[in-house]
Amino acid sequence: MVRICGWIIGLLALLAPICVSAQPARPHSILVLDQSDLRGPFHYQLWSGLRGVLDARAGVRVTIYGENLDLPRFGGAAYTESLKRHLKEKYRDRPIDVIVAIGRGMLEHTLSWRAELWPDTPVVFAMLDESDLAKLERQTEVTGVILDNSLARAIKAARAVVPDLDTVALVGDAWERQALFSHWSEEIPVATSGLNVIDIIGQKMSDIRKRVAELPERSAIIYTGVFSDGEGTFYPAATAFGLIAETANRPIVVGAEPLLAMGGIGGYVLLATEIGTEAAKIALRILNGERAGDIPPVSGGVKPLFSWPQMQRWNVSESSLPEGSEIRFRDQTFLERYRWQSMAVVAALLLQAGLITFLLHERHLRRDAEVESRNRMSELAHVNRNATAGELSSSIAHELNQPLGSILTNAETAELILKSENPDLKEVREILADIKRDDQRAGEVIRRLRAFLKRTPFETREIDLNEIMNEAFKFLSVQASGRNVALYLQTAPGELRINGDPIQLQQVILNLVVNSMDAMSTIPYGRTVIGRTELNGGSAVEISISDSGPGIPSDKLSQVFDPFFTTKDQGMGIGLSIARSIILAHKGNIWAENQTGGGATFHFTLPLAA
Ligand code: ADP
Repeated sequence: MVRICGWIIGLLALLAPICVSAQPARPHSILVLDQSDLRGPFHYQLWSGLRGVLDARAGVRVTIYGENLDLPRFGGAAYTESLKRHLKEKYRDRPIDVIVAIGRGMLEHTLSWRAELWPDTPVVFAMLDESDLAKLERQTEVTGVILDNSLARAIKAARAVVPDLDTVALVGDAWERQALFSHWSEEIPVATSGLNVIDIIGQKMSDIRKRVAELPERSAIIYTGVFSDGEGTFYPAATAFGLIAETANRPIVVGAEPLLAMGGIGGYVLLATEIGTEAAKIALRILNGERAGDIPPVSGGVKPLFSWPQMQRWNVSESSLPEGSEIRFRDQTFLERYRWQSMAVVAALLLQAGLITFLLHERHLRRDAEVESRNRMSELAHVNRNATAGELSSSIAHELNQPLGSILTNAETAELILKSENPDLKEVREILADIKRDDQRAGEVIRRLRAFLKRTPFETREIDLNEIMNEAFKFLSVQASGRNVALYLQTAPGELRINGDPIQLQQVILNLVVNSMDAMSTIPYGRTVIGRTELNGGSAVEISISDSGPGIPSDKLSQVFDPFFTTKDQGMGIGLSIARSIILAHKGNIWAENQTGGGATFHFTLPLAA
């Protein structure tokens, strides 16, 4: 029992912190005290920087109270005393965790009210120059964002904009009414040494406008801030600046970012959003448990910024700007504006170039393959011609025998004539002429045979197809009569000019005729082969070889052109496939059909020479 009690107590002890942390935490509160009123874009940016950081804080709720106390326009002990009472009453029941004080005047008041209103509340300041800070009463738990906002830097910007600068015109409200630049008044002697200073501080708007229109060459305006016409009317900061920029005859160096868009050339510009963001980050660190006294003040919120249109107007080159300057409102180059589109176009062009290269390479490979296949075809055709020549050896022998026999007979006759007492020399001369002619005939047969058997690459030239057919049929005539085949040739009138390789085309004709003679070997009589040449339309020639054989079985009509298809015991089956390759290489067509009356006909067409 005692043990169980011990466990329960132990368990409770373990759960205790969980129970405590599960209790809803009090929402944190930040009070932002701003010395300005709420009118201009500058203060809008500062607030949006603050809120951006605080609203994005995940998990913990932060309530932001804000007061814009309008100190530049309202002052005096009575006013500030009434403000103190007002704030005391207003926030009596609202505990504040961090106070953010914006502007030197505001920090000054906050520190003086602090002991009475928020004695233990840490303070984060913003929009304060280091020299301002040095002048204030030192208190604990105070930190914030320090600006390097000096007149010396404004003069540096003026020299960048006007390289031969000899005069500066200082334009703004009376120094004591200035929220951000009042400390510049003390800087004037040192910062402007060597320069003429035209003082246009604390004057009426109408006078300011007049004087800024008459400034000398080699001068620049250094603008702090004007918020009234000097006669009781208060303007929003941007409106006042617009009125001055309208008449100014020299470039205006400004200290606030929004004025760049309204005619200011630029300078070391306070970045309101960044100042708000930095201040909010410090406030958050404090809310997360850090002591303000342990967080050293951070610098930031000032940057050299320049307006491109104003640089153009005053002929200011980019190279003369201070290091790290940023240029606003610059027209984007074509590439900057259409970056993605340009990249897409470049990518498409590269892709296209790659594709073209690939296709060219493919074409090159195809050409190589075509040349290779023609070479193979020529080699095979050569083999086939050797075989055909073997088959036609009787024709060849006959063609040679004829002239050789005549030569022998003529030589013997001449011998006899010369042996006689009175040889008839005229007759001997005629006989010798006959011998010479027969010798030339035999030589021609051998020349043709050698040409036919020569291994030659595929080469075309303009030839007469009728002549090729005549030669081939003459060559076949002996073979035909030996095989009891009647060979007829009907040629179209005139010449049929085509571009072709004569040897290879002759080979096609020989293959077709020899095949026809083979096919008719089983029929006892009536073996006939008819060759025809004719025009086919106006642009092609058609050649046909018909026979009176058994024809081709209809299911084999297309197969006969396949390589190694043969129905013969000793056949190789390459004759027709070579014939087809040759005709295709001549850009022609070849096909087979059966005649209605029996027998096969092979046709091929070839384009006429242009
Ligand atoms: P091969 O003559 O060595 O057989 P080919 O390619 O020249 O090779 O011929 C292939 C086949 O086509 C022949 O075996 C034959 O069956 C058929 N053929 C070719 N020409 C004819 C024809 N005029 N009549 C009938 N069949 C033919």
